[in-house]
Amino acid sequence: MEPPDIERLDERTVQRIAAGEVVERPASVVKELVENSLDAGASRVAVSVESGGTEGIRVRDDGVGIPEDQLEAAVAEHATSKIGDIEDLDRGVATLGFRGEALYTVGAVSRLTVRSRPPDAEAGAEITVEGGEVGEVRPAGCPAGTTVEVDDLFYNTPAREKFLKRTATEFDHVNTVVTSYALANPDVAVSLEHDGRETFATEGNGDLRSAVLAVYGREVAESMIDVEWTPEDGPGGEETDAPVRRVSGLVSHPETARSTRDYLSTYVNGRYVTASALREATLDAYGGQLAPDRYPFAVLFVEVPAGDVDVNVHPRKLEVRFDEEPAVRSAVEDAVESALLDHGLIRSTAPRG
Ligand code: ADP
Ligand code: MG
Repeated sequence: MEPPDIERLDERTVQRIAAGEVVERPASVVKELVENSLDAGASRVAVSVESGGTEGIRVRDDGVGIPEDQLEAAVAEHATSKIGDIEDLDRGVATLGFRGEALYTVGAVSRLTVRSRPPDAEAGAEITVEGGEVGEVRPAGCPAGTTVEVDDLFYNTPAREKFLKRTATEFDHVNTVVTSYALANPDVAVSLEHDGRETFATEGNGDLRSAVLAVYGREVAESMIDVEWTPEDGPGGEETDAPVRRVSGLVSHPETARSTRDYLSTYVNGRYVTASALREATLDAYGGQLAPDRYPFAVLFVEVPAGDVDVNVHPRKLEVRFDEEPAVRSAVEDAVESALLDHGLIRSTAPRG
């Protein structure tokens, strides 16, 4: 056969293909928007979605806001206020976002409105992007902070729409995302609403147990025990080159368990991650105390030296790898096991130490 001609794709097509990388489903949009709110130093983040997020997503925060003359830049491609150049990336990024592509790509596949007022600005302003078409900046009355609204997600990408599951499934994903940020940031009041009904609202009082109460309810919150572990190599342990600097958080009584692993939340250096090593180490610590196919609730924060874990370079990548995986695994197991032992919830099987 004749070799086909090779042609450059038009800009719209490139934009939509790229969007698929970031915007997989409503929950991935919610994740990007909540991260932006946290990066903006918000103390309140209110998320509300319609029909699992397929019909509408709104995230409102009380963060630093976006000045009127920056609104266009905020929705432009590769535009970010978070890093200046590649050296910044090498130094390590403290913010959750840095690629400057989230608002741009969401705008390519939906009707996106960003409305904002920095706390010291007299008036607010908004900008709308519809299927990649950027509108004019208009004045808008709004409280201090930023509100981002996403309507008709994927309306111009019919192929993508087919991949969306039932509303309930999409909402489950949204709930998982918002929950994970609520638990990671107990000092921020995070709320979630679905079709006008409140799913949960944390107080933002800095107390992890209170956040667990808001998210998982009283039975779970009351069964949680504290985990606090640091390496035992003398004073100033956190200044040594120990591969794990701290393991902290809450784990549930072995009888407060569910038939899914979804309630094992793990964070590395403050970022929500899925790491099978961390889950397995947690489960190992329970020994034989869990009923078959039952999994506990856990909210565990692991701190490792920044260079020992590969950074979240891909927007959808949650699975992390550790340079020192066996050490991380044993630190987590030790941390959870000590907590359970202290509460007499497991029996010591072998001399520890
Ligand atoms: P990134 O987060 O990677 O910088 P985004 O496309 O998510 O890229 O956002 C682009 C820019 O818009 C951000 O760098 C920030 O300056 C601004 N921005 C987005 N959301 C908010 C928000 N909720 N509050 C304040 N500024 C925001
Ligand atoms: Mg972002």
